[in-house]
Amino acid sequence: MSDAPNGPLPVARDTGDLRRAVAAWRAAGLRVGLVPTMGALHAGHLSLVTLALARADRVVASLFVNPTQFGPAEDFAAYPRAEAEDAAKLAAVGCHLLYAPDAATMYPAGFATTVTVEGVSRGLCGDHRPGHFEGVATVVTKLLLRVLPDVAVFGEKDYQQLQVIRRLVADLDLPVTVVGGPTVREVDGLALSSRNAYLTAEERTIAPALYRVMTECGDALQQGLAAGPVLEAGIRRLVAAGFAEVEYLALRDAETLAPLDARPADRPARLLAAARVGRTRLIDNLPVPAVAGSG
Ligand code: AMP
Repeated sequence: MSDAPNGPLPVARDTGDLRRAVAAWRAAGLRVGLVPTMGALHAGHLSLVTLALARADRVVASLFVNPTQFGPAEDFAAYPRAEAEDAAKLAAVGCHLLYAPDAATMYPAGFATTVTVEGVSRGLCGDHRPGHFEGVATVVTKLLLRVLPDVAVFGEKDYQQLQVIRRLVADLDLPVTVVGGPTVREVDGLALSSRNAYLTAEERTIAPALYRVMTECGDALQQGLAAGPVLEAGIRRLVAAGFAEVEYLALRDAETLAPLDARPADRPARLLAAARVGRTRLIDNLPVPAVAGSG
């Protein structure tokens, strides 16, 4: 292991170093947390490290821009990379170890296994990013098995991803508690995202309309109105605000992500969206709780 160039945070690049560090903590009776990331860290990522620190004695953040979760026409090559800055930010919030493997360490020659989570991976981003959740589920399974944390923290920002991971952890009996962290936003409501760096100044003025329109739709859905007309009106408002394309704006069961015609009285629902401003794809989601007494 070596120190990060900009700070005291130790960096593990190979699995042996990682496992030795975690084993030493375990031998000392310490609880271990994991926060997987693709780097270009912002306050949203760091909030997950803080959540992990509240539930574990030692926290590993992983940084791996996972090629298998990007489609051939997506932004893998352009994805922002800033490891030295990331290491300094992680050290500042009290993270104990950065695990930053390279692609050959993650996918050695001959690698041939894919983890597919049916059901929750289908629809929404699963339709628009074929193979994306297989890439996510496979790399997260590997990270969980390499680190063997007591707790792993993921953002609600990527809500479908969080449900995919909850499902795979349950189905594969992985001995880890999955925790979802709330979405951290800019003051104007835009969810923090590494991809916000792609926005031009003009696009940045359009982007907050996603959260604004979703909040309006969420309020209407919370009253029990039929989803169809509410969501159609929402899509029109997003286009009028300057979004080039709305891939989906959908009301779903909060756990299974099954489509809903209206907010159910007895189960939590979630409103989810993906939309493009210019060439940048933004996603967001909100809870749609039942209003007490409204049926
Ligand atoms: P990424 O680096 O985009 O793969 O994200 C790593 C983790 O950070 C994932 O669990 C994301 O859901 C989470 N995350 C990304 N953006 C935010 C945000 N604005 N607030 C909270 N968590 C986030």
